[in-house]
Amino acid sequence: MAEVEFRSIEKGFPGGARAVCDLTLHVPDGELLVVVGPSGCGKSTVLRMAAGLEAPTAGEVLIDRRVVNSWSPQRRNVAMVFQDYALYPHMSVRGNLEFPLRMRKLPKAEVRAKVAETAGLLALEDLLERMPGALSGGQRQRVAMGRAVVRDPSVFLMDEPLSNLDAKLRVQIRAEIAALHRRLGTTTLYVTHDQVEAMTLGSRVAVLSAGRLQQVAAPADLYARPANLFVASFIGNPGMNILPVRVVALVPHGVRLRIGERPIDVGVPEAARADLRVDAPLWAGVRPEALSLGPAEGSLRVRVEAIESLGHEHLVYGRVVGVPVSAVPIDAGAGDIGIELGRVVARLPSTERPPTGAELFLKLRPESVYLFTPSGECLRHGHPGSIGP
Ligand code: ATP
Repeated sequence: MAEVEFRSIEKGFPGGARAVCDLTLHVPDGELLVVVGPSGCGKSTVLRMAAGLEAPTAGEVLIDRRVVNSWSPQRRNVAMVFQDYALYPHMSVRGNLEFPLRMRKLPKAEVRAKVAETAGLLALEDLLERMPGALSGGQRQRVAMGRAVVRDPSVFLMDEPLSNLDAKLRVQIRAEIAALHRRLGTTTLYVTHDQVEAMTLGSRVAVLSAGRLQQVAAPADLYARPANLFVASFIGNPGMNILPVRVVALVPHGVRLRIGERPIDVGVPEAARADLRVDAPLWAGVRPEALSLGPAEGSLRVRVEAIESLGHEHLVYGRVVGVPVSAVPIDAGAGDIGIELGRVVARLPSTERPPTGAELFLKLRPESVYLFTPSGECLRHGHPGSIGP
């Protein structure tokens, strides 16, 4: 086992693409750290630099406290698992598992014992004589993991290993990966674009956007205390509602904002408050689960555009009416992070099903409101979930 560290890593590609900028990240021995972010944010490049398949343009990669920039992938003793399995098609499952051990010229008895042990660990015993072509996607991925496990590497590097599987199998294999990690305790870097996967699997999650690390924290912390607008809107399913607002007045311990039908007072930490002025633009954030149907006072007036029924609850998508969104200058690149101005989504119990086209009021509690500066930095964390009547 080993710890992995990235120190001030930069990675540019010929032609100008900067895939990773100033990445500093420490993965302690035995941790399963998930790297998550949208397509093209540099996740695979980070993993490939740990594997030795790409060289950083600047900075250092350390494994077990040794700088490994110049080490070959073999010398690093890491095992990669890819989304396309990368099994040898002309070898049986047994052959695939034996291959890395034979390459190391281990004695036959040891190879047999290790393959048997790994097959037991991943429930592959009955598949050992099959060819990869005769396996289901889930079974192939288990073999691919087996081939990584059998080598007894110091680090696992997994690049979207579940993305070729259907939704049900993804959940099952995800649980198997978590169990395997608990059992073996091998340091693991796991890359995915799926924030649900990241939140359920990682003991910590590193969020990347455009090659930059936005935040690294435990899943519950990312959700409750996002460092910035990107993390707030990326983490959560659906992500946080983001609305442009203006400061109406400074009040003791906070600011008065016009978000919905009436101004509401929201507390702001003293240090952050010093920089706020009347009329200053801000972003307000509210989690879909913190909205509920309510009276007009202190509420957002919303026209319902669509409803997604999830069985026990509904996601109600709507457009805010009555607040002049265009009055707020935007300089946080709202489009870049997928914010659709004026759109909100509320998570409501299945007993509350408003018809499409209806206007309704969504109660906004000051405690649940997050605030961000125009450039996206978080000024105040709200309460993420439902907090009673
Ligand atoms: P995805 O989820 O789509 O796989 P990713 O987050 O893993 O994306 P990377 O594959 O790491 O992203 O790519 C990051 C950026 O670097 C992208 O803009 C990509 O086009 C660019 N890039 C990656 N590999 C190369 C390369 N060999 N040459 C030039 N540009 C590259």
